[in-house]
Amino acid sequence: MYYDLHTHTVWSDGELEPSALVAHAARAGVRVLALTDHDTTDGVHEAAVAAYELGLQFVPGVELSVTWQGLTVHIVGLGVDVANADLKQALLGLRSKRLQRGQAIVQALEVAGLGDARATLERAGIVSRVHIADWLVAEGHARNRATAFKRFLTRGGVGYVTGEWAELGETVAWILSAGGDAVLAHPTRYRLSGGRLQQLVQGFAEAGGTALEVVTAGLDAGEMGRLARLAHRYDLYASVGSDFHKVLPWRSLPGGLPNLPEGCRPIWERWSLPSYAQEVC
Ligand code: AMP
Ligand code: MN
Ligand code: MN
Ligand code: MN
Repeated sequence: MYYDLHTHTVWSDGELEPSALVAHAARAGVRVLALTDHDTTDGVHEAAVAAYELGLQFVPGVELSVTWQGLTVHIVGLGVDVANADLKQALLGLRSKRLQRGQAIVQALEVAGLGDARATLERAGIVSRVHIADWLVAEGHARNRATAFKRFLTRGGVGYVTGEWAELGETVAWILSAGGDAVLAHPTRYRLSGGRLQQLVQGFAEAGGTALEVVTAGLDAGEMGRLARLAHRYDLYASVGSDFHKVLPWRSLPGGLPNLPEGCRPIWERWSLPSYAQEVC
């Protein structure tokens, strides 16, 4: 699979700078790459320049935080115009909500006697629980990031604060009005029952959503098949993305991420890409 349409950099909660991400993707054999940081497009320019220099096809993108029926879900925008005024305004709003949530988490940790994590809010990129988790690890409160999330930053933890993000419909509208395609990211990761997942996909499709992320890291053939059928049922295209955050493993190494199941309409059929990119998949 030479496409990777879901990746992160230091501008959100990834480990690599945009140019390093692009170089890494190129080494891994990716030919068409989208950068989709959480709630920011600040890494897109650097990544686009690096991709041009290395001969990769680059797709400017973003992964937006959405609250749907009290639950956080993620919508990826692909091929968005990062200069679009509505999108820029929306991202500013989401980042401000992230800062407010961050402040509430930091305060809760302080009240719980875990120390002063205010420095984690002072970043050039977005404020994310990941950076607070890393602080908890550095302070010796947790063994690793996963434990920090589990013990402190998810439901039941002293530092758990519910995020209130954007609405599903308005999020899809922002992406479409910025000229992009809207993709429901990692649909199986919300741990929804079959019925509720169907409800989410239906709401997404009715809002004008474009595609489901049918291939992402860690899915088995059965799960991908179910997502492919859901996409077909709601007349949605299918996307592919590793959700790369850090080096090792790059899951979209050729052969690393599986191909789309039979019968899927790849989202890139909607784009005009050079012929080599069409041929390899
Ligand atoms: P936020 O968007 O600030 O709420 O942080 C969510 C991000 O944290 C996700 O995009 C993942 O990259 C990461 N994440 C979520 N859950 C975990 C976990 N249990 N362990 C490690 N990272 C996680
Ligand atoms: Mn993330
Ligand atoms: Mn996500
Ligand atoms: Mn992601």
